[in-house]
Amino acid sequence: MKLHILGCGDAFGSGGRHQSGYLVEASDRLFLLECGPTTLLAFKRAGFDPRRLNAVMLSHLHGDHFAGLPFFFVEYLYRQPKNDPLIIAGPPGTEEKVRELFQIMYGGGNKKDLPPVCFQILNPDQPTQVAGVNVLPFRVLHQTEAISLGLKIAYDGKQMLFSGDSLWSEAFIEQARGVDLFLCECTFYRDQPGMHVNFQALQADLSRLQCRQLLLTHLGEEMLGHRSELGVACAADGMVIEI
Ligand SMILES: [Zn+2]
Ligand SMILES: [Zn+2]
Repeated sequence: MKLHILGCGDAFGSGGRHQSGYLVEASDRLFLLECGPTTLLAFKRAGFDPRRLNAVMLSHLHGDHFAGLPFFFVEYLYRQPKNDPLIIAGPPGTEEKVRELFQIMYGGGNKKDLPPVCFQILNPDQPTQVAGVNVLPFRVLHQTEAISLGLKIAYDGKQMLFSGDSLWSEAFIEQARGVDLFLCECTFYRDQPGMHVNFQALQADLSRLQCRQLLLTHLGEEMLGHRSELGVACAADGMVIEI
């Protein structure tokens, strides 16, 4: 299983990085974790055909994580139709928000139909399958008015944990136990307002993290400035990781 980093930036495009988009290439599956605004272009730049995409899994409904979906929809409507429906799995409210966003961007006054898609709700602590991939969603501390999820994914005998956007929490220590890769957001270097991981909090728990690989992502400007001294791997756009 391979992880292609299509976008590892924060909402502000810090360091000129694309917004969230992580493509998982498994033996017979291709799926995205997150679909930020810049995901389709990075997907094409990485040499993939959008028609091959089986599913998109969303951790939460902030624009830097899901606002790229309408570009995939226009691709399927006007350029390269997709035969099988795209599965879009996310927290409660995903279907409404995605449909609303598409109407705002391309509706043009008339209600415009989406290409064939199939929405699936991910509920916290309810293990499920998305396009045949095992997913355990669990609630993380990021939004107060909506549900933000972390996602633990298992396929092809490999396990991967994705933090979504979240404050650092004990739940990550527990969920990361034994996983092949933990892709963890780390927006800040030191503690500051905003519900995101700061490196100093994570660092204090590093010895307790029992995952094979740890990769930091969603880095803000302050984190980018400290990158060389962290002693922990950081994602970069275009990076490909063997899980
Ligand atoms: Zn974000
Ligand atoms: Zn967010």
